[in-house]
Amino acid sequence: MPVYEYKCQSCGHELERFVKSVHMQEAPACPQCGKASMRRLISRAMYIQDEKTKMDQLDPKYEKMMDEADKPFRADDPLKRITGQSLYPD
Ligand SMILES: [Zn+2]
Repeated sequence: MPVYEYKCQSCGHELERFVKSVHMQEAPACPQCGKASMRRLISRAMYIQDEKTKMDQLDPKYEKMMDEADKPFRADDPLKRITGQSLYPD
C-alpha cells in the first residue's frame, strides 16, 4: 500500500497518508487549518525512479550487444589458421 505525503499550501502542515488506490487523486483536508489545500508531494513515488534506474542500468548492456552485432565478420578465419592465407585480403 503506497504512502503519500501531503503538504498544506495554506499553513505548510505536512501529513502522511496510506492510499488504498494509486489512482486516488483526492487530497485530504488539512487537519491543522481545515482548508482543502493539501498537495501531494512526489517524494514517495520513488518506485517510479527505481524503474527508470533499472532501465538505465540495462542500456549499456544493450549498447554492447549492438556493438558486437556491428563488427564485420573476420575475427576467426579458419583457412588462415590452416594455410596461413587469409580469405579476407587486407
Ligand atoms: Zn493547513
